Amino acid sequence: MRQVYGILGWPVAHSRSPAMQEAAFRALGIDAVYVPFPVRPERLADAVAGLRALGIAGANVTLPHKEAVIALLDEVEPDARAIGAVNTIVRSGDRLLGANTDAPGLVRALAEAGFEPKGTRAVVLGAGGAARAAVVGLARAGAALVTVAARRLDRAEALAEELAPVSGGTALAAADLARLGEAFAQADLVVQATSATLEGRAEAEAFAASLPLDALPAQATVNDLVYEPRETAVLRRARARGLCTVDGLGMLLHQGAIAFERWTGRDAPLAAMRTTLVR
Ligand code: NAP
Repeated sequence: MRQVYGILGWPVAHSRSPAMQEAAFRALGIDAVYVPFPVRPERLADAVAGLRALGIAGANVTLPHKEAVIALLDEVEPDARAIGAVNTIVRSGDRLLGANTDAPGLVRALAEAGFEPKGTRAVVLGAGGAARAAVVGLARAGAALVTVAARRLDRAEALAEELAPVSGGTALAAADLARLGEAFAQADLVVQATSATLEGRAEAEAFAASLPLDALPAQATVNDLVYEPRETAVLRRARARGLCTVDGLGMLLHQGAIAFERWTGRDAPLAAMRTTLVR
C-alpha cells in the first residue's frame, strides 16, 4: 500500500523537503508520497491526531511547530528534548516518537566537507533553535569547546548554561558577538546560526563585515547554516580569506537523509536528494 509522509508547517509551501523526500522514494522505488501540510498553530494538536488517525508513516515538522509538537508526542528523544525542538516524527506502531535530525545532520554535513569535530574548538553564532541544534550536534561529536556567541550576551549565557548538563565532555562558553577576536583566534570551526545572512536581510553585509574573520587560524572552517542564498555574505568573506567554507545546504540535505533513514530503515539516496535540493 502506498505510504504517506508529510511536513507540518505554517507556512509550508516554500519547503524543499517534499521534492527532496519524493526524489529519495523514487530513487529507491518506494511507493510513497510526501505532502506539505499547512497547519495553523492553533490546529497543531488536531493535525497530530490526524497523523495518528490517518496512519501517516512519518513526518517532518518545521516552523512554527518544532517546539509545540513536543507535548503532543508519545515519546521524545533526549537530544530533541535538550534542543527543545522536534523536526522529525517517527511512527512505531501506534506510537509517535519525536526526534531532532538537525544536530546529527550538521555533523554529517561537516564530515562530508572534511571536518571532524572531535577534539576541536568551535564558535556558534546565534542563540536560537539552529544554534541549539549545532551545540548539541558538536557536543555529541566530541568537540572540546563550543563557544556560543550572541548579540545579547545573556541569551548566549542562558543557552550554554541550559545545555551544559547534556554536553558530556564538551566545555560550553558564552561570548558577546561584538567581541569575538579571542574566541576566533583559537577556533577550528565557526558555525553561523543566526538569521542575519538570510536573503534580503539589509544587515547581512554589515553583519559579515563585523566578524573578525582575519583572526581565525588559516585552516579554520566556516559553515553558514543559512542556505538562501547559498553563498552568504559570511561565506563569501571567509572564502576570500582562503578559509574552508561549508554552505547550509549540507545540513538541510543530511537532516532529511537521517529522517528518511529513520522512517524507512534504508540508506538515503544522497545523490538524488542533493540534485533536487540544488535545483
Ligand atoms: P531563530 O530561532 O529565530 O534564531 C535566530 C537567531 O539569530 C537569534 O539568536 C537572533 O538573535 C539572531 N539574529 C538575527 N538577526 C541578527 C543580527 N542581525 N545580528 C545578530 N544576531 C541576529 O532562528 P533559527 O531557527 O535558529 O534559524 C537561524 C537560521 O538558520 C535561519 O535563518 C535558517 O535559515 C537557518 N537554518 C538552517 C538549517 C539547515 O538545515 N541548513 C536548519 C535550521 C535553521 P536575537 O535573539 O537577539 O534576535
